Amino acid sequence: MSLANGRHYLAIPGPSVMPDRVLAAMHRAAPNIYEGGLHDLVDSLWPDLKAVAGTTTASVAGYIGNGHAVWEAANANLFSRGDKALVLAVGQFGLSWAQSARAMGIEVEVIDFGKATPVDMDRVEAALRADAAGKIKAVLMTHVDTASTIRTDIAALRAAMDAAGHPALLAVDCIASLGCDEYRMDAWGVDVTVAASQKGLMTPPGMGFVWFSEKARAVGKTADLRTPYWDWAPRVQGGEFWQLWDGTAPTHHLFGLREALDMIKEEGLENVWARHDCLARAVWAAFDCWSAGNAAIGLNVANPRDRARAVTAARLGAPHATRLRDWCEHKAGVTLGIGLGMAPPSDPAYHGFLRVGHMGHVNAHMTLGALAVMEAGMIALDIPHGGGALAAAAGVVAAGAGA
Ligand SMILES: *Cc1c(COP(=O)(O)O)cnc(C)c1O
Repeated sequence: MSLANGRHYLAIPGPSVMPDRVLAAMHRAAPNIYEGGLHDLVDSLWPDLKAVAGTTTASVAGYIGNGHAVWEAANANLFSRGDKALVLAVGQFGLSWAQSARAMGIEVEVIDFGKATPVDMDRVEAALRADAAGKIKAVLMTHVDTASTIRTDIAALRAAMDAAGHPALLAVDCIASLGCDEYRMDAWGVDVTVAASQKGLMTPPGMGFVWFSEKARAVGKTADLRTPYWDWAPRVQGGEFWQLWDGTAPTHHLFGLREALDMIKEEGLENVWARHDCLARAVWAAFDCWSAGNAAIGLNVANPRDRARAVTAARLGAPHATRLRDWCEHKAGVTLGIGLGMAPPSDPAYHGFLRVGHMGHVNAHMTLGALAVMEAGMIALDIPHGGGALAAAAGVVAAGAGA
């Protein structure tokens, strides 16, 4: 028998859950793209997009594209052929950004910290000090690596760059974390931030954004990897409407995004961060109990300080993670994330990892429900696990929400 019928919950780290309000805002006839309401709507997006990234000073460029697209956008505006990038990888997403830069003709140095260990800031400082000729034009870093679910202390990274006295720009991938994890572009000294619509911004995949500082803008003026589509300069506030998108605007996405940004404003960005923090800690509490009864179960990231609030990677031991994901989807209507980048899909170990998304339009009953379903699956599939997980998770929610 299946208990999956009812409203399905896609508990993966993007695309995230679409709020009904966002869907309803998109459900309309095609608007006039030459003048009128759509132009006013786009004018209203810029200040809110800046606020969500914690900047008053950066410019924002929007692209029709996903996260991979805005990696290329950042690469194209930051680098000329033969320039060097320093990529700090703590999981698959950092490695993929490095690959996109390399494929565009950028010389890439990767410091790979593995799949479960945070960045060692001393090594970053040493790598920058070793670049006496100043070949490194920018450091590329994920705020949250969505595969390993490691969150990096961006302020500490900036401090390490400053301590090295190196002029490289700092570019941060916030595709998983924006609107989920606390992020302060200006206060943390970030030059370029990239994000996409389909995660914390709760809008369907298809739009990407690049926020860039004045310093980055100056570099962009001479970057020879720029092409007409990727050049960020014509895309910013004040530009001709058609130039903002270099062609037809992503009309319906814009209505959806307007609604999603309204929802974030209504809740308050700090409350959005606090909600994600509490739900993440509920998931961690459950795993800590499960792992007490089975050493094969455990969170991927040891120290809570280094964990994402948007998504949690865990191991269950092969093949149990795949079995449990299948059970949750087909028996209970919850789709969990695959263990991306932890092992190749052809390797049996791949079936030992999964990720739980708690990103965007997610509340306590959804996260507690997903955890309860996971426990039901472990019981049904005879996966050994420690007890008390649901009570522990409920306790975190109770303490967070208060009376
Ligand atoms: C999702 C994600 C990407 C890739 O985004 P796509 O839209 O799938 O291209 C890149 N970086 C991070 C950190 C992500 O979470």
